[in-house]
Amino acid sequence: MGILAYIAVGSNLANPLNQVTTAFNEIGNMPKSKLIKKSSCYSSSPLGYKDQPDFVNAVVSIETELSPHELLLELQMIESSHKRERSFPNAPRTLDLDILLYGDLRIDEPKLTIPHPRMHERTFVIFPLQEINENISVPPFGDIAKIAKGLDPENTKRITL
Ligand code: AMP
Repeated sequence: MGILAYIAVGSNLANPLNQVTTAFNEIGNMPKSKLIKKSSCYSSSPLGYKDQPDFVNAVVSIETELSPHELLLELQMIESSHKRERSFPNAPRTLDLDILLYGDLRIDEPKLTIPHPRMHERTFVIFPLQEINENISVPPFGDIAKIAKGLDPENTKRITL
């Protein structure tokens, strides 16, 4: 039995919907891992640097026997295969993969922080996460329903079933 982990998927370049749905398969094909659930896709306006296309976002759950650091490396290889270039913070990106939760583990390292430190303030993460697990708790912020209630839904719309 592996660990249940949640991964955020986002893209705003080069056919974002296709980037995200392709990433679902690639995540499911990672070693020692299987895809458990995937959310609908959502459209959201960019944070920070505004002069860029809207994002497509989703969340998947996986069961994995990879360690958190191995999982991060696998996800970074998938990002690279989508020709992701890191130019500046909040820049447009072909594919962004973040580890949101890894079981109930908490890690606070410069290169890996779990739970993801900004997930509780991002509608494009919280709404799809709530869709695939309405009872999940996000430490230290608590129940997903409570977190979702405090967010403004204006900029995040569901675009696929
Ligand atoms: P970004 O360019 O926004 O994708 O940020 C990538 C950087 O965030 C990488 O260098 C990771 O080492 C770091 N990072 C820290 N925590 C996480 C996490 N939970 N999931 C993914 N990347 C993380």
